[in-house]
Amino acid sequence: MTVRTRIAPSPTGDPHVGTAYIALFNLCFARQHGGQFILRIEDTDAVRSTRESEAAILSSLRWLGLHWDEGPDVGGPKGPYRQSERADIYKAHAAQLLERGHAFECFCTAERLEALRKAQLAEKGRVGYDGHCLSLSKQEVEERKSRGEPFVVRMKIPATGVCVINDLLRDPVEIEWQQVDMQVLIKADGLPTYHLANVVDDHLMEITHVMRGEEWITSAPKHLLLYQYFGWQPPVLCHLPLLRNPDKSKLSKRKNPTSIGYYRRMGYLPEALLNYLGMMGWTMPNGEEKFTLDEMAQSFDVKRVSLGGPVFDLAKLSWLNGRYIRENLTADQFADRLVEWALNREYGVPILKLVQERVERLSDVLPKVGHFFSGSPALTEQSFAHKKLSLDEVKRILFFSSRRLDGLRKWDAETLKAELERLGEGLGFKIRELLFPLFVALSGNAVSTPLYDTLHILGPDLSRTRLREALQALGGLSKKQLEELEREYRKLPGGETEGA
Ligand code: GLU
Repeated sequence: MTVRTRIAPSPTGDPHVGTAYIALFNLCFARQHGGQFILRIEDTDAVRSTRESEAAILSSLRWLGLHWDEGPDVGGPKGPYRQSERADIYKAHAAQLLERGHAFECFCTAERLEALRKAQLAEKGRVGYDGHCLSLSKQEVEERKSRGEPFVVRMKIPATGVCVINDLLRDPVEIEWQQVDMQVLIKADGLPTYHLANVVDDHLMEITHVMRGEEWITSAPKHLLLYQYFGWQPPVLCHLPLLRNPDKSKLSKRKNPTSIGYYRRMGYLPEALLNYLGMMGWTMPNGEEKFTLDEMAQSFDVKRVSLGGPVFDLAKLSWLNGRYIRENLTADQFADRLVEWALNREYGVPILKLVQERVERLSDVLPKVGHFFSGSPALTEQSFAHKKLSLDEVKRILFFSSRRLDGLRKWDAETLKAELERLGEGLGFKIRELLFPLFVALSGNAVSTPLYDTLHILGPDLSRTRLREALQALGGLSKKQLEELEREYRKLPGGETEGA
């Protein structure tokens, strides 16, 4: 048997360090067994998936030095590797399940399902589908279909008994079938849900080991049942521990930058970041903390992965990065890295254009553009002193602009301008007032390079992090304040449509 592992990211946002961590472990496992590592794009959520996000994920993983043997960009014998291009395959498989009586058509309306959910919540019972359409006759199903009534396909679930999940890292986990919902497999638009597409693809792509984040363990019963319904051998399952914030909560961008782009822009070296991700739940047998991908792959043993929630600690990562800079680079190579990172024309010229009109000597330039080449500015309450705005108003502005920019997919100066102007109007602030806290958050100064261009050049990762850190520098927001502001935000023009 050839070992085949995969990473299956959904292209719905910024490339996440957690994706790189899971990819690294899958790659090491495949390499160690002389197998293959596959990259598959799970874009069944047509509304949230974008090609920009897919491209960003691929380029971030490549920047880190992770390479896959098969994928949407490199091709391979089991393609296509993008689920949006495999709709017919899933349809055919769902038809098979219907034919064999393992699935059923469900015509329940959104209103009925919502009423059901409310009633179940009120009774404090289990929330889930009640099997209303399970017993429709073939004839009725055909009639309703021919009338054009929208329907989904759901999988049948045993009424009793338990599902036993065998996991490489755990004792068998038992989940009662009663706890498992009759999962929708094909949505009303004819596209599959994650569960069906994931199982069908893992089988057809001959994946032997599914190594993924432990948040998916509760989905395993549905997946194992689907393998059984199809009569397929399921892959070996291995749920890896989730990355954690230092307070042990699940790694989230509210507490820690999670986008790989942030680390790249902050000047972490890819080999150091990859090494650091290798330390998440894994230690080298010799105890060495600094190691290469090759070294990790050579001594990798998945059984030694520890389940005690690995903490993603920025200070430790920075320490390791420093070691790479000090120990691995000559001064010339160090210079090359800086050039590659930001001291180049591509990054520099648009910045110089912003200050050319405002300098008299070359030596005036660097002090004006430092914020494009350094980490977040050091901020205190004093930095935000303003004759009209109170600190509370500054915090409101930081929260609302952060919220707006978090949801923004298009990141050019015009879009940024339009969005912030709309926000200013919605909040009743003059645009100059609204922009003041942003200038300070991004550059450390009330007067700086033009704001929309600055945001554009800094890019979403650094800009969002600086706004978040500025709010923290002012003491942050309590849970209650956050909830209130969140409610207020949703009422603003554009507030409901953009998710964080
Ligand atoms: N598309 C899922 C994700 O984004 C993949 C989960 C899995 O590996 O099965 O995490």
